[in-house]
Amino acid sequence: MAQVWKKCSVCKKEILCGATYYLCSVSTCNRKRTQLIFCSVECWDSHLPEARHRPDAGAIEHVAPAAPVAR
Ligand SMILES: [Zn+2]
Ligand SMILES: [Zn+2]
Repeated sequence: MAQVWKKCSVCKKEILCGATYYLCSVSTCNRKRTQLIFCSVECWDSHLPEARHRPDAGAIEHVAPAAPVAR
């Protein structure tokens, strides 16, 4: 059974362990306390208008770890 890893910062959809997710390529969106995680490129797209990134910003594909991170 797949476990939930984290939730999408935009639509709050659950991102399951082992699933593909996206991070913003802009470093200020990836600070530890403010890290944004996107379930799809569409959600990353909808973050662009308020983030006002330069046109070279992109969504970087990642794969969630196979098991939840222990805290
Ligand atoms: Zn989403
Ligand atoms: Zn961003």
